[in-house]
Amino acid sequence: MRVAVFSTKPHDRRFLEAANVDGRHRLTFLEPRLSAETARLAQGAEAVCAFVNDTIDKGAVRSLADGGTRLIALRSAGFNHVDLSAAEAAGISVARVPAYSPHSVAEYTVALILTLNRKTHRAYNRVREGNFALDGLVGFDLNGKTVGIVGTGLIGEVVAQIMAGFGCRVIAHDPAPNTRCEALGVRYLGIEEILSQSDIVTLHCPLTPATHHMIDDKALGRMKRGAMLINTSRGAVIDTRAVIRGLKDGTIGSLGLDVYEEEADLFFEDLSDRIIPDDVFARLLTFPNVLITGHQAFFTEEALNAIAETTIANITAFEREGCPQHEVRADKVRAGT
Ligand code: NAD
Repeated sequence: MRVAVFSTKPHDRRFLEAANVDGRHRLTFLEPRLSAETARLAQGAEAVCAFVNDTIDKGAVRSLADGGTRLIALRSAGFNHVDLSAAEAAGISVARVPAYSPHSVAEYTVALILTLNRKTHRAYNRVREGNFALDGLVGFDLNGKTVGIVGTGLIGEVVAQIMAGFGCRVIAHDPAPNTRCEALGVRYLGIEEILSQSDIVTLHCPLTPATHHMIDDKALGRMKRGAMLINTSRGAVIDTRAVIRGLKDGTIGSLGLDVYEEEADLFFEDLSDRIIPDDVFARLLTFPNVLITGHQAFFTEEALNAIAETTIANITAFEREGCPQHEVRADKVRAGT
């Protein structure tokens, strides 16, 4: 099949070419993001391959359909950036990579927790400047602390396992409790109790209308004063302006973000010689107790391999059987199945 790959970075090309055994599919690598304005670049391609910050709204879908596209193969688990109803109406199938390496994201989440807690990011810079003072670097033992996991699917489950290994008390909130987590001793509670009891709250739910701005002023008001908040799920699960208020008044003790509400304008690009126009993001960067990375939790060899292989398998299945292996259907998402 002819496939237009949008938002291509060097690693996308490397892993997708390796997975495209015998050059079965004709992959065209395009640097621009997929949007209503760029969709015509896919003219004549039966499939497009898209990533998390592509905007696949009604306009983009219409333009893709006009150009002959019949499959949108996402190289991500999340699909909140796709207008599924518009795709369905246009007769375009949508596929995703439901699981690649939950370990990649879970281990990264723990890296954020450990770094923020023990301040190794600050110590690294100090030592390089010849500053060996310890003032301001005090952390806390994870052993015995309470970790609240919001969303115990594939990633949340691995986070639970790792944090239990540190000797933490792990509590969780999920409308569909995970029996493997329960077997591990994880206690399921309402979101209010998770917020009020946790020393560390870590978010692993998808971005849906129900989870949009789940962490707002009201939720922050329920948190233990000085708790750590970690988000490696999707930026808009957090109301960033509310979180800035929480950092200013000390409600939040530290914040680790790998995702940001307005990340589409920033992440995955080298903007180091430009002025960042986003004042909210700029304010976040001023806090010493905030650690932000640019959506890299998934970025391991194993995950990239798995993403490329599942993406190619989705495209091959669609070519052979008219249906990708991991289809995302608007009606099923609406029904919550
Ligand atoms: P998953 O589908 O296996 O698990 C998500 C869990 O969230 C499910 O158990 C679901 O029941 C639960 N959930 C749904 N609504 C909820 C709510 N209102 N409150 C609490 N829990 C709720 O997904 P996963 O593979 O574990 O991934 C989780 C999220 O992580 C993805 O949706 C994606 O947004 C994000 N992600 C980020 C990166 C990254 O690089 N930062 C990489 C992969 C995935």
